[in-house]
Amino acid sequence: MIPSSSVTPAAATVKQCAGCGTDILDRYLLNAVDAYWHTGCLRCAVCQAALADIGSTCFTRAGLILCKPDYIRSVVNDYIK
Ligand SMILES: [Zn+2]
Ligand SMILES: [Zn+2]
Repeated sequence: MIPSSSVTPAAATVKQCAGCGTDILDRYLLNAVDAYWHTGCLRCAVCQAALADIGSTCFTRAGLILCKPDYIRSVVNDYIK
């Protein structure tokens, strides 16, 4: 199953960002791969694109978070083991 991220209104309880480790006090946060992220902290491990900016879908492979093009490339070329 391919995990997907979603933008959700911040809940009453403050979450910590899995990317930078600080509290998420923004109006919106991202929930992806069983963690919470600032919208600017969820980035592709390969090209560093902010996934919130290029769409709400992210992919994981070998523990890395990838944008869709890099995920497809990693599968086609099998360069992430
Ligand atoms: Zn963050
Ligand atoms: Zn990428």
